[in-house]
Parts: sequence; structure tokens; C-alpha cells
Amino acid sequence: MVGTRDDVRFVFVTGGVLSGIGKGATTASIARLFQFRGYTIRIVKIDPYLNIDPGTLNPIEHGEVFVTEETWVFRPVEDFEFPISEIDLDFGTYERFTGMDVHPSQNITSGQIYTSVILGERRGSFLGRTVQIIPHVTDEIKRRIWENAEKEPVPDVLLVEIGGTVGDIEAMPFLEAVRQLAREVGRRRVALVHVTLVPYMKSVGEFKTKPTQHSVRTLQGLGLQPDFVICRAEHELTQPAKEKIALFCNVPEQNVISNPDIDIIYRLPLSFEEQGLGTALINHFGMEQREPQLDEWRQMVAKYENASEEITIAMPGKYTMLSDSYKSINEALAHAGAACGARVKIRWIETETHCDDNCLREDLEDVDGVLLTPGFGARGVEGMISAAAVAREKQIPFLGICYGAQLGAVAFARRVMGWEGAHTTEVDPDSLYPVVDLMDEQKQAKNKGGTMRLGAHVVRILPDTKLHSLYGVTETKERFRHRYHLIGRYINKMKDKGLVVSAVDETGRIINAIELVNHPFWIGVQFHPEFKSRPDRPHPLYLGLIRAAIEHKTGKAR
Ligand code: GLN
Repeated sequence: MVGTRDDVRFVFVTGGVLSGIGKGATTASIARLFQFRGYTIRIVKIDPYLNIDPGTLNPIEHGEVFVTEETWVFRPVEDFEFPISEIDLDFGTYERFTGMDVHPSQNITSGQIYTSVILGERRGSFLGRTVQIIPHVTDEIKRRIWENAEKEPVPDVLLVEIGGTVGDIEAMPFLEAVRQLAREVGRRRVALVHVTLVPYMKSVGEFKTKPTQHSVRTLQGLGLQPDFVICRAEHELTQPAKEKIALFCNVPEQNVISNPDIDIIYRLPLSFEEQGLGTALINHFGMEQREPQLDEWRQMVAKYENASEEITIAMPGKYTMLSDSYKSINEALAHAGAACGARVKIRWIETETHCDDNCLREDLEDVDGVLLTPGFGARGVEGMISAAAVAREKQIPFLGICYGAQLGAVAFARRVMGWEGAHTTEVDPDSLYPVVDLMDEQKQAKNKGGTMRLGAHVVRILPDTKLHSLYGVTETKERFRHRYHLIGRYINKMKDKGLVVSAVDETGRIINAIELVNHPFWIGVQFHPEFKSRPDRPHPLYLGLIRAAIEHKTGKAR
């Protein structure tokens, strides 16, 4: 039976006490509980910031920007268009946990909501009324949520994660919209899940539930009574702590769920399952109880648990302070590692201070592979170029992603071709050898903001290349986020010295990948394979890097 909008159930996930306590993984794991039972889901994330999308946010502050397969044209009113394919990094977690591709319209921001309302007012959509947060902004929020509930295939359950923390001023209209929506569809079709932090005080040997009580009280003051409280804590919650939270927060005790620190995040849905959260949610909604199918997921998690070999991958770059800046890369490395029975240790190398070949030779002495990171701007670039050069010289397995591939080409131009001062024009607009540059048509474009190449594009893989032996196909689709390009005029001259083009775009004009011929594994790609890696389906390129790294390590041991 196919559901209609009148059948859709809603799970709203709010956060309390602190941000950054893994609400994304919690939401994705709850989605998985429904999937284990054969129910269909869709996840919406609300980001209360005023940006239209996170494309312009600094990854050091905010973590990586996730890129979707599809691009969505956000049209607040006619004649205004904003193509969106850059969304919040939690969507990476959703894709990895649910195995589904998300659509950019699943990420709702305050920026989008207010733009629609304000431009709508200018176009006369409100017929003389005073335009207000309630009802106009809340109506627009509800409209966007419903759009996702009604879109084919209509899901059995729509999960909505509300970013930020309860009490934030920016989140108020969203919480009010949730209250209204819950009232409209009836409480039985809505589950409110509140995720909080429960600190453990070592000095008194006790969990402290007061911050949780306060954040639940804030929610109650907004007319929202949580049905489930999920408690992030260092350890499994004790029975007395659970009882206390149940009593003070007005939830049944079995609906107080522990979410302790775990080293394999993919275990989280199983942990929720063990605590009865899946069954409790189904009961709450009065849905048909079905036996959860856990075998495949368990086998996948076992691969992570049983990985015994340890390999070290160096990641030279500048955003090394916050590991979330490269969230999808970290995960893609772990996926490929698990498939090969290895745990991947990442060694960050800060290339602002580690910035010449000698320094990098030392840094890379005992690593098994190098992943050269994506990025923008001049900071840390010389060290990244040195890393690519040293990986070539020392035959260390190397994967350059986007900027990493571009800087790999710069390294080859300088060290092998002898083109002194070769560079990307992003850093040196006057370089004599601009091996990475804007394409001619981009230079003519007036509107610089619109020149970023985003979303999924066809990648043609050339025969007789390492890339082809990894993919095993001649055509695929990968996700892009870049402005500059490897310039054929220069790159094609490198062939005689051993650097070849291994993938192009549909037209054959854009270079999508390069590789070295006389090297066990040195590949640079203009796209981001990490966005398509899944815990049970590692990406061929990451798998290639990890396999080469294991061989490199074994070779060294001999
Ligand atoms: N800064 C480079 C460009 O714009 C690379 C971008 C990236 O690594 N995602 O082309």
C-alpha cells in the first residue's frame, strides 16, 4: 500500500544543553530503526542560520560543506533563482546511515524561509496584511516540511532535525511551527525526541541531570513535551539517573535512552535497538510491529570491530584544527579500511608551518599513504605542494582530492617539468605557468559568484589507466565543488614525463583526473569521491588508496 500525506508520521529531533552532541547521528540512527523494519523514511534538517545555504561558511568553524548528487533551484518568487547543491554536513551522515541520496530541498534554512516571505511580500502575496513571524514565517516553514512529506515516494516517516539548541532565538519560529504542525496532525502522528548532554561528575561519581531538566522545561514552555529523551553521556546512564530524568521531564522511563560515547558510530542504531527504541517508536505511532532485519547491519559493524591491521594516512592541509572539516573524507577512509580489515589512523600535518620538501620528507617518513585535502586560498599551500612532491619521489601512495589534485599538478610542473613558479592562479594570478586556472569562458563571466562548478557531473574514465582498473567502468558520476581547472595546454605536456590525464568530462574539455605512470599509486581527482562512499560500499578510489597503503606498509616491513 502506498501512503498519502494523511499517513505520514513525523519525528522531530531537538537538541538541548550543548550543540555538537551528535544529533545528526542520532537522527540518522532513528531513521535506520524504521528502515530495519521495512518502513520508508525521509530526513529534513533545519538550520536556523540566515545563510541561504552553507556554501559560504568557513569549514574551520562549521565543518565541511556536503555536496549533493542533484542540484535544486530554490525559487523564493518568480525570477529569483538560487541553485543549491551545498548543504549541511549532517546530510553526509544521513546518506551514510540510510544509504539514500538526499535532495538539497531537505535542508531548510532561516535564510531561505525569510527570503521567500520578504520577497513574497514585495510581490504582493500578502494582500495588505501585516507580515509577521506568526503566522507567515511559521506557515512557510510548515509548507517546506509538508513539501518533503508529500514528495513522491511519500515516506512512512518524515524525520525533522532542528539544528542548534533549544532556547536559541533563531530556532524559535521553527519550534513554534513544530508545535502548530503537531496540533494539526494530532499527537499520535508526531514523536518528539529531545537529545541532551548528561555530564558525569567524576568527583562525586554521579550523572548530573539538571541541565537536561532545564532544557526540557524550556521546550515545555514552548508547548512541546518530548516523548523520548536521548542522553549523550560519557558512559551508559545508571538506573537512578534514568529514573530522575523520567520523573522530572515527564517521560516514561523506558523512553529515556542512553547514547554513550562509542568508537564505531555505526553501532549506534544497534545500541538504540537493544534499548528498545525501535519498538517504542512503532508503538508510539501505533504502526504495525515488524521484526527488525539487523543481520546485514550487524555484519557491517563487525567488519569495523574486527579490523586489526593499523595503517596511517597523512592528511596535509590547513583546516586541521577541527576534524569535522573533513568529515566525509575521514569516513570514506574508515569505510575503505574496514573493507580491508584495517583501522585507519589519520595524521594531520599542518602545512602552514610544515612547508618545504625536507620537512615533509621527515613528516611522511613513516606513513603508509597521503591524502591531499581539498581547500581554498593561499594558506598552507606550499606545504601541500611539497607533500605531493615527496609522495611522488618516495613512491608513497597518494590521493589528491580537488585542491589536492590541483596542487599535485603544480608540484609536478615545478619539480619534474622544471617550470619554476608554476602555480594555480587562485594563489598567484601572475604565474608564468598557470597550470591551474579559470577556463576562458569563466574569465569572461561578469558574475564571479556564479562560477563555482557544483553537484554531480559525468566523468569519462580513459582506458588503460589506473583509474579505469579501479572503477572497472568507463563512465560514472561524481560530485564536484570547485572553480579552478587543470589546464590541458599545460597538463598534456606532462605526458612524456609520466603524468597522464585519466578522466575528462562529457565534452572532453575539462580534466577530471590525473595520475602518474611510474608510481604504485599517485592519483589526483577534481571531484570528491568521499561524498559517495558508504559504510558497506566503500568508494573504489579510497579502496585503491588503502590497498596501496597496506602494500606499501608490508613492503617496508620486508
Ligand atoms: N580551490 C579550488 C577550486 O576552487 C579547489 C576547491 C576544492 O578543493 N573543493 O578549484
